[in-house]
Parts: sequence; C-alpha cells; structure tokens
Amino acid sequence: MAHRTDSIQTMKGIGPAKEKLFASLGIHTLEDLICHYPRTYEDRTRLCTIAQLEVDMPSCFRAMVMTNPRSHKIRKGLELTKVTVADHSGRLNITFFNRRFGTEQLVAGNEYIFYGTVTGDFGGYGMTNPVFESMDSSPGVTRRILPIYPLTAGLTNQAVSKAISQALALCGPPEEILPKEILEQYHIMGADRAYYAIHQPQSPEDLDHARRRLIFEEFFVFSAALSLMRAQRTLVTVQPYLRRDLTPFFEALPFSLTKAQRRAIEEISNDFSKGFPMNRLLQGDVGSGKTMVAAAAAYLACKNGQQTALMAPTEILAEQHYKTLTGLLTPLGVQCILLTGSMTPKEKRLAREALSSGEAYLAVGTHALFSKSTEFSHLGLVITDEQHRFGVAQRAALSEKGSGSHLLVMSATPIPRTLALILYGDLEVSVLDELPPGRQVIDTFLVNESYRARLNGFIRKEVQAGHQCYIVCPAVEEGETESGKAAQTWAETLQRTVFPDLPVALIHGRMKGSEKEEVMGAFSRGEAKILVATTVIEVGVDVPNATLMVVEDADRFGLSQLHQLRGRVGRGRDKSWCILVSNSRNPDTLLRLKSLCKTTDGFRIAEEDLKLRGPGDFFGHRQHGLPTFRAASLSMDLELLKQAQAAAADWVNLHGAEHTPEAQALRSRIAHLFRDGMGTFN
Ligand code: ADP
Ligand code: MG
Repeated sequence: MAHRTDSIQTMKGIGPAKEKLFASLGIHTLEDLICHYPRTYEDRTRLCTIAQLEVDMPSCFRAMVMTNPRSHKIRKGLELTKVTVADHSGRLNITFFNRRFGTEQLVAGNEYIFYGTVTGDFGGYGMTNPVFESMDSSPGVTRRILPIYPLTAGLTNQAVSKAISQALALCGPPEEILPKEILEQYHIMGADRAYYAIHQPQSPEDLDHARRRLIFEEFFVFSAALSLMRAQRTLVTVQPYLRRDLTPFFEALPFSLTKAQRRAIEEISNDFSKGFPMNRLLQGDVGSGKTMVAAAAAYLACKNGQQTALMAPTEILAEQHYKTLTGLLTPLGVQCILLTGSMTPKEKRLAREALSSGEAYLAVGTHALFSKSTEFSHLGLVITDEQHRFGVAQRAALSEKGSGSHLLVMSATPIPRTLALILYGDLEVSVLDELPPGRQVIDTFLVNESYRARLNGFIRKEVQAGHQCYIVCPAVEEGETESGKAAQTWAETLQRTVFPDLPVALIHGRMKGSEKEEVMGAFSRGEAKILVATTVIEVGVDVPNATLMVVEDADRFGLSQLHQLRGRVGRGRDKSWCILVSNSRNPDTLLRLKSLCKTTDGFRIAEEDLKLRGPGDFFGHRQHGLPTFRAASLSMDLELLKQAQAAAADWVNLHGAEHTPEAQALRSRIAHLFRDGMGTFN
C-alpha cells in the first residue's frame, strides 16, 4: 500500500510536467491531493425532461439522439456540429463548437445523459456544448454531485478529480485524529467516510456531514493547539513585578492618555503582579494609540529591572517605533536600541552587546531580535506589534524564546469579536475602543475612472497646499493581477505624464530593506510628495502630513484592509480624505465599498465584511497569520466553531498531557499544522 506522504509522482499518469502543475496548487504528496477540497459542487443528480428544461438553468436530462451528428466548417477555425435529440416530452437542437471528435460517439437511436444549459434566442431554443455520457457508463460528469476543484491552467477538473480518486484508492483517507467520544458527542462523521464524501458525495446530506466533519476537525486541532499553548504558559511562574508609579511616564507624554489606554495599562500592570506570564492581546483600531500602551508596559518592566523586546513586522515600522519610543523613554532612564536585518554587522553587534550586557532595556526591531545570536541578559516582556502579520506559529516560537516572560501582542486587525474569541482563544484581551480626542473623520469617496482628471487635480491641490499623498496599487509589477494597477508602472506614468513637476516616489515589498527605508525616510521628511505604494504601507506607517489616500482598484482589497490603508491618513491636524477608485460594475462589490464610505469604525467594518463576504474570507486570507484552513473556507458556521472550541478545551483539560496513542496523534497533527516553531507541542 502506498503511503500518504509519498510523492504524487508515484501515481500512474503523473510525470514531471503534471507534477509541476500540481505543485503550483500546493500539492506534492498523496495526502495533499486528498486534502485538496473542492471549491464548490454542481448537483447533477436530478434528471429532468426536455420539456422541463429552463432557460439559463444548467440541468441534466436523458434523451435519444435522432440523427447522426452533422458537421460543417463555418469559417477557418470554426466548425459546428449539430444534432437533434428527443425524449417523450419534446425535441431539442444541440450545437457543438469545434467538437467534431468527441461528438462522433453520439449515434442515432442511442440514449445518453446530457448536462447543459438551454439558451433562448431569436431563432428559438437550443443548447450549446453540453457534456454527455452514455447510459451504461458509470456516472462521470452527469448523474452525480460533481466536485469543482481549484485549478490551474493545464489541469482540468476531471484530471484533478481522477487523481484524487486514485490517491484515495492507493492509500485510503487520513487516519482518525478526533477522539471517539467527541465524534459521538457532537455527531461528527468519521474520517474513514468524510474524505470520500467530500470528493464523491452520494447525496447533499452526505456532503453536508463531510464538510461539517472537516471544518470541525480543523478548528478542533487549531483550538487544541491554542489551549495547549495556554496550559503550558500557566505552568511557568515568574517573579511578580512590584507596582511602580507611572506619574513620570504620564508627565513625559505630550498628551493625556485616553480612558481606554489607561484601562489597558492597568490591566497589563495587574497581569505583571500575578506571578505568572502575561498572555495578552491589545486590540485597537488604527490610530487608537497602542504604541503608548506598549511604552508604558516597557517602562514598568524596566523599572522592575527587566528588558523588553518589541517586534514589528516591517523595518519601516520598527524604525518608526524606535524613533517614537527612544524619544519618550530615554529621558526616563530606559535605554533603547534598534535591531533590524538591514543594519550593518557592526551596528548589529553593538546593539546585541547592549542587550546581553543588560545596558539596554528596550530593544525595538524585526524578527532579527529573535535570531540565535541575540541574547538578552534578563528579558521580561515580549511585545509584538501588528500581530496578524506574524501568525500563531511565530507566536508560539516567540513565547518559547522568551519563555517565562510576559507577552503582549498588539493588533489593529478588527476581527469581529465572535471570531477573535476563537482565533485568540489563548489570550486575554484588552480593547482600545476609543480614539484620542480631536481625531478627524476621514471623508471617504468611491469613484470610477471617469473621475480621473478631477482626482489628479485634487492630488495636485493637496500637494500645493503643502500636504502629501499616498496612492496604493494592488500589484507591484504589470501583469500580476489581471487588470489591476501595478505600482511600478503607475508611478512612472504619474511622474512622466501627470505630475512631472512633483516628486513621486515608489515603495513596494520587493525592494530591499534599506531601499524601503530610504524612500520612507524621504517621504516622512516631505521630500517626496506623492508615494505610490503596495500594501507594504498598510500597517503602522505614520506620516502626519499625509492627508490623501488614493486606492486604485479598490475592489481588489478586503474592506478591513482598506480600512487599515485609510488609517494612514488623518493622523495630523489637517482634514484628510480617502478616495477609492474602482471600475467594478458588480453591485455587491460597489455596495461593499460604499459601506466603507459610511463608517470609520473598524469593528463595524469587519462585521460588515463578514456579513457580505462570508467568514471564508477571514480564514482564506493569510493575513491573520493563521494556518490555512482548507475546509473552513468552503463554508463555515460559527456555531460549529464554538462547538469545536469547547470540545478542544475540554479535551486538552482532560487528556492534553497524556501519552496515549490518541493524544500523540493529535499532538503530531498540531505540530504539522504549524510546521515550524512548534517544539512546544511534542
Ligand atoms: P495605533 O498603533 O494604535 O494605530 P499609534 O500608537 O500609532 O496608533 O498612535 C497614533 C497617533 O496618535 C500617534 O501619532 C500618537 O502619538 C497619537 N496618540 C496616541 N495616544 C494619544 C492620546 N491619548 N492623545 C493624543 N494623541 C495620541
Ligand atoms: Mg501601531
């Protein structure tokens, strides 16, 4: 018997060329293939009569071929094949385009099952290019619920479907990892059936059960991982921090903190005094002032003789935090250093020495902070900014490196509360639900291409008034997304033809760290007036003089992402705008974008996103740093999520530490889910 981890090349009919195509879908092993779930299904089980066929409704019907197919060339490259079919209820003319071969199988007097769509036009009703199979063949493209797979050019749905059946026959479905009592308690379909049913459902109910099972499994594993993480952290004890007077810190601030900021600092300070490591998520909309809460936490740690590491997802952001924090904290006696990948070896060495000697109390940086060569003399607090950019795996790796230290993760991703509960099930949550006073409402407008000239005029007017402008594009280079504007060419076009007299700069994720820094530096110093960018500027970037955010092809972005982008303006005293450009005509898309014009509340936007696009998108997107949920993006119901979470929590409480085969199997699945950084779970 074949093994699930075997390469798909061991299968018949899969050579290097096919293997490459499958690899582009992320499929390498037999198991990957089995876990390549359909994107959707077409129910072709119901047969109707010709009389019952409805215009524009794809349907299956059984009919006899009345005349042998006749083909004629209309012009070069276009050959029509016509055939008339009938059943007891009526007749139907069928036309095939360029399908002479294939259609030769149709023989007058024989019956076939067809699947196709009737269209009505001036000349009467007819059907073009239906698929068909003979009555005595086993159901292939008709008479079944047909799975429709995510595909890539060169691979047909049928080829994928066939390969999956073959893989299932070779090695069978993955082993059961859900404990038996849980299968029973929650009425969950067993693995032995579910993997067949998701690919070859016998009935809609069969499919529902399979889906339910696979979604349940994914969230069970995920929730169990979080529960284990939490259980492990509460085993460690640390020296409780002494309460420190925060007055000097408050007095050093150029503003007074909001109630929400003070409450969050109080919650953190409480955690510090408990005697075991804090594990807290600080969630607050863009601009709610999370950095100051982090600063207060670092201050408290320092005054307890402990070092803080603050990790940002990008160098730009790390630089910026370093500037803000060193300005505030150094005068208060907290020595700060910066550590990023693009610093020179000498700079890095000096920074690391300051950390290992214990001279520096706050280290701001990128993941370079947690490389092997960085040693802290007494690390007490780890803070990660914009947590969604990291991910659960890194979160675990981090808590390992700083084991026994407090952990504060900060995120502006406004995940709906219901989902946050599940995603951050291992964390306590503080919410900054209030913006600092005097914040401007950012006026948001949705426009299409016909506004281009006015938009350009508006950009010029803002720049002439001394302000700056961001223009965000969905792609870096031409041809990356169909019809999506590419930052590189758009920047050139604007500079050359529209704003030859204004400094236009370009920034994107493929540039080197030092290049990005240079561009960002020039923009924040006001040397560049217009910054054409990709979503690299999505998080954290703070240039108060920028008052206009233009998003090209706004329909390419998720609402929450657009909200983040919008948060890059309105950070200073001046009136700010966000212009969403979209040429979409899809009413749903336009509705979605318009909802953004109406509200600036990140949580409401997230709920809206959830309502309009369905939860699949929240999990489909890798943004949240979640492992990829394959089944969950098929469909998802929150009730099922909650059940899986409850089941996982119970199970971890009762059996999490056991060494039974069942517990081992689950732990190894968890490790697989997170791939790296999961030493914690074995
Ligand atoms: P976040 O990281 O939550 O998006 P920041 O920490 O970057 O927000 O804060 C956004 C801006 O608001 C910064 O310029 C910061 O100095 C300012 N700010 C923070 N707290 C306050 C406050 N209480 N009053 C006024 N301005 C504040
Ligand atoms: Mg921030």
